[in-house]
Amino acid sequence: MERMPQEKKLEYLLRSSKIVAAGFLGDDPRSPEQIIETDLTALMHLGYTVEQVAERMQELTVLAIPKLGNPVQASGRLQICSEDYKGEIICPWPHPVRLAKRVTTARRLDTAESIRWSDLNIHMIAEHGFFEGIGSAFRVEPAVLVRVIFEDFAGPV
Ligand SMILES: [Zn+2]
Repeated sequence: MERMPQEKKLEYLLRSSKIVAAGFLGDDPRSPEQIIETDLTALMHLGYTVEQVAERMQELTVLAIPKLGNPVQASGRLQICSEDYKGEIICPWPHPVRLAKRVTTARRLDTAESIRWSDLNIHMIAEHGFFEGIGSAFRVEPAVLVRVIFEDFAGPV
């Protein structure tokens, strides 16, 4: 099926974006629509919605902000740390939103697994269902994310 010109424009924007090195698609050959569809399906199988995931990411980010640069215990098994890189970043969609250049890392003390995200990741996941392409600097792998941020996650049903 012929793709809409608007979708091609979006792919171009995400692939060539100078906001981050290597753009938002990394070396992923798939279109943004394919990436989004695959990740949303994976998330559904894991038993979570983008809203739940984004809400938890936001909650952890807010918890880490007062101790910027220093680890915070979100619980006995989950440690988080936010770093501020000064400045703002815009949504590449494009979308009239400006977000702080902040990166939050969540680390599980029981499994040693960790994942990091930017405020822009939270926005793109919540608003666009976009976890970035494989190979991009800030790709958020849905399965890893869910395993790290939801301590009661017991695996797909
Ligand atoms: Zn947006």
